[in-house]
Amino acid sequence: MIKRLIFLPGFRIDNIEHNNSSFYVFASIKSKRSQCPVCGSFSTSVHDSYTRKLADLSAFQNSTTILLRTRKFKCKDSSCDRKVFSEQTPHTMRYSRRTARASSILDTLSIELTGKLGSLLSKQLLLPVSTSTVTRIAMKQKLPEVIQPIVLGVDDWAFRKGVNYGTILIDMETSRPIELLASRERSDLKRWLKKYPNVKIVTRDRASSYSSAINEVCPDAIQVADRFHLLMNLSDALDKYFKSAQAGIRSGC
Ligand SMILES: [Zn+2]
Repeated sequence: MIKRLIFLPGFRIDNIEHNNSSFYVFASIKSKRSQCPVCGSFSTSVHDSYTRKLADLSAFQNSTTILLRTRKFKCKDSSCDRKVFSEQTPHTMRYSRRTARASSILDTLSIELTGKLGSLLSKQLLLPVSTSTVTRIAMKQKLPEVIQPIVLGVDDWAFRKGVNYGTILIDMETSRPIELLASRERSDLKRWLKKYPNVKIVTRDRASSYSSAINEVCPDAIQVADRFHLLMNLSDALDKYFKSAQAGIRSGC
């Protein structure tokens, strides 16, 4: 039954062990031959093998590790630069330590959540990754092709909170992030806006560097503070007022 649930086409499951809330799946690849990644020729000549450890989806609060016997093949094309190569499967990326289906969950999570929250959730899903790994996975994602946004959101983005900040650009009509800029610098935003100058409305934080970049490239765009930053403005104004009125309040005037 478990074998059927694990099912990965092309894999042969040789054995399953269970130990300390973890499933260990011993598997190998069914195909007798493999294709050289350099010259594309097929080989059946096995040189050696090793075990590749791959984290897979958890099952009923048990983590799952696939121990994949991976063969190394000799390339039969004498003119090829690669003499020996490891067999690959469509279920995992080259050099990855996770199956593609486990990676796909982390890919989604890394885009939807911050590094810290993503890391917390990954632990709950028994696919634990650190905060910095969540950010790294997010940065590797191919963002959808950008279509000229009409309503653009511009805000800070913490690569590492308190240390390293960039700028996130959001298509406010679809609520999807469309770009991550490496810095909060005016020049970076300006460069990006020049490619998409037909923005009509920009919701942004209070940073004056963003404001001047928008004024320069999209002078007709309406700039508005979003609800969060509007509340921050209000809070700052009230703070300033009460501080200035403090003496009067104390003396009962
Ligand atoms: Zn080759």
